Amino acid sequence: MKIPKEIKLFCKKCKKHSVHKLKLFKEGSKSILKKHARKHEAKHNKGYGGKSRFVVHIKKQSKKPVFVATCIVCNAKKYYVAGNKAKKKAELV
Ligand SMILES: [Zn+2]
Repeated sequence: MKIPKEIKLFCKKCKKHSVHKLKLFKEGSKSILKKHARKHEAKHNKGYGGKSRFVVHIKKQSKKPVFVATCIVCNAKKYYVAGNKAKKKAELV
């Protein structure tokens, strides 16, 4: 999937269409001390053992690539999700 580096998008700050630069969105590393993680651990460590049911996570094969679009005029950032699902990694041309 090939996407141009610069795209015209609506900017909320400028309140009009302007050129946006695209950059692939990269997820940050997950924190260990998140509430969810603690809760999950507590649930599995309490009681006298036994088996706990767990959900099998299936990795999605194709995803819609997500970009971070920055406005050239005011530097405001927003997400830009490309409409099509892509198995291959998105490429900026
Ligand atoms: Zn702007």
